[in-house]
Amino acid sequence: MLEIKNLHANIDDKEILKGIDLKVNAGEVHAIMGPNGSGKSTLASVIAGKEEFEVEEGSIILEGEDLEELSPEERAHKGIFLSFQYPVEIPGVSVTNFVKTAINESRKARGLEDMPANEMLKMIREKSELLEMDRKFLSRSLNEGFSGGEKKRNEIFQMAMMEPKLAILDETDSGLDIDALRIVANGVNKLRNKDNAIVVITHYQRLLEYIVPDYVHVLYNGKIVKSGTKELALELEEKGYDWLKQEATV
Ligand code: ADP
Ligand code: MG
Ligand code: MG
Repeated sequence: MLEIKNLHANIDDKEILKGIDLKVNAGEVHAIMGPNGSGKSTLASVIAGKEEFEVEEGSIILEGEDLEELSPEERAHKGIFLSFQYPVEIPGVSVTNFVKTAINESRKARGLEDMPANEMLKMIREKSELLEMDRKFLSRSLNEGFSGGEKKRNEIFQMAMMEPKLAILDETDSGLDIDALRIVANGVNKLRNKDNAIVVITHYQRLLEYIVPDYVHVLYNGKIVKSGTKELALELEEKGYDWLKQEATV
């Protein structure tokens, strides 16, 4: 699904990612952990194609295709979904209208007609039921007055509707309350399937008590210094990140 090879990326001539190698197969959930400032959000942004970052070396390959020349929109249309760290408020545009527009824009970019209204409604019903969403929530204005948990619910709903091949959820370092954490975890657990891949970026091992990842990687100072299975997350919980310093320098 996704293959990252020797990825080096800069911002303002400062090297942030210093040679990342990562392979994610369909059907897998990977967690990327690491201390604050290690480059986790940068990695997510670079995969999504955000233009403020300069890829100096290496490649990002999605289903055999090198993404180098593709804009963030083109990458989204290829099936990459990046959760929003700073959700925009759009008064007057409901949760469902926003997602309908996003789906139809994506279809248009792929040369498809709008999704028939009845099909769209059916999908909205199915996905909102799967995620146990209150119907009233669907007609609220996008992000207006949303709590942390509601923002996450909206994000997970968008992810469910877009049916991405690769979803990257950057849970930021600002922390999620327990309610938001459960929403994200339940959503990921319900949406994971053999055809998609999910990368969860988190500073906290707590989230991984709810989402059981197939692989855990530690990003430290712009490099993946350790990879393992879910036990690695427990080890990090116990020992923190400092013991990885030596591995980061070799
Ligand atoms: P993490 O998500 O692991 O906390 P980030 O990817 O946000 O780490 O940041 C990694 C490094 O890149 C930090 O030193 C941060 O200051 C720097 N950085 C990130 N974004 C920017 C930016 N827009 N401008 C300048 N420096 C940035
Ligand atoms: Mg940070
Ligand atoms: Mg971050």
